[in-house]
Amino acid sequence: MLKQIILRKDKDRVIHNKHPWIFSGAAESLPPLEEGEIIQIVNHERQLVAYAFYAPGNQIIARVFEFTSSPKDVNAKAYWVQKIRTAFEIRQSFLVSEQTNAYRLIHAEGDFFPGLIADVYNNVVVLQFLIKGAERLQAIIVDAISRLGFEYIFAKSKKVSQLLENMDIPTGWVSKMQGPDRVEVLENGARFIVDFQEGQKTGFFLDQRDARALLAEFSAGKKVLNTFSYTGGFSIYALLAEAEFVHSVDSSESAIMLSEENAALNGFGAPKHEAFAEDVFDYLKKMEHGAYDIIVLDPPAFAKTAKSLINATRGYKELNLKAMQKIKPGGIIFTFSCSQKVSRDLFRKIIFGAAADSGRNVRILAQTTQGLDHPVNIYHPENEYLKGLVLQVE
Ligand code: SAH
Repeated sequence: MLKQIILRKDKDRVIHNKHPWIFSGAAESLPPLEEGEIIQIVNHERQLVAYAFYAPGNQIIARVFEFTSSPKDVNAKAYWVQKIRTAFEIRQSFLVSEQTNAYRLIHAEGDFFPGLIADVYNNVVVLQFLIKGAERLQAIIVDAISRLGFEYIFAKSKKVSQLLENMDIPTGWVSKMQGPDRVEVLENGARFIVDFQEGQKTGFFLDQRDARALLAEFSAGKKVLNTFSYTGGFSIYALLAEAEFVHSVDSSESAIMLSEENAALNGFGAPKHEAFAEDVFDYLKKMEHGAYDIIVLDPPAFAKTAKSLINATRGYKELNLKAMQKIKPGGIIFTFSCSQKVSRDLFRKIIFGAAADSGRNVRILAQTTQGLDHPVNIYHPENEYLKGLVLQVE
């Protein structure tokens, strides 16, 4: 029998709303259990309501992976294999093609699997364990993913969660076979080298696939500036769509080098593509007015915590204001925020503030979000983190 957490009487609503995070205040008492253990959650009448990963000591004491009133064998391998297979089939049906073999296979709560990220790069799968509960299932997860036909599986635990939840898995291969150091992938026909071992996150920003495809539609014959360019995601799409030229700017030397390598892989070099290892704020300050028809602004999450929200707001505003002041009349700005703490509404207000200060007329032509391989659990709206606006600036 699994151990139980009993919810307080006034907390039934928590269950009705199926939010996967159970906070410590919702429980009648906290049993002495191991970190990451699978537990049952019962209501005050002792009826089963959910299964979850336990995290004593955290504010979020349990992360639910199944809301149900009828018992399920959640310790069985078959249960997890099925969960992973369902996620795989959604991607197979709607995303994977001869043109695209890089995608997120498991998006944590969005795939009802709290604490697990799994990204597919061609024949390599990169896992990120965000909580102990997911990490304890490592052997089952690796087996389930191998059964889907992937030979090489690499685990990369996030440093922050290692601190929070005593994660054990070191970075390295967890499949029987050791794979390559880097891997080449295809995304909508564009070729990219992904350095999943040394690169940021799991190696590539898969969540921007659709926005990159949209940029391609605007790029023919245009002078494009791609800021926070990382390994050149947006740049390569613009080049393949016959931009006049593309400039990539990122502060990371290694990312800039890889963006040049990726441009070459797709048949582009200077002067069509040039990449600069520089701070974006400095670059925008010294940039000439009217130098670009299109500017992409895809900064890292400025607001990681609620406290840093004010600074983040300033950062986004300054960035967008500079781009609006300097873009060629009639130009297009692709602007994004991936801070989960900045809501779509707030982001829109920040952009409004920048537009008003720039004194220019601004139209919203399109709005973007994360791709379908980053699904949002409807009961867990926090999972919708990526917001984008395509602006035309008169
Ligand atoms: N648009 C990219 C992903 C951007 S991730 C893609 O589609 O792949 C954010 C990037 O911003 C990282 O590569 C990071 O190195 C870079 N960065 C962070 N702060 C920066 C700054 N002040 N100036 C320049 N680059 C910065």
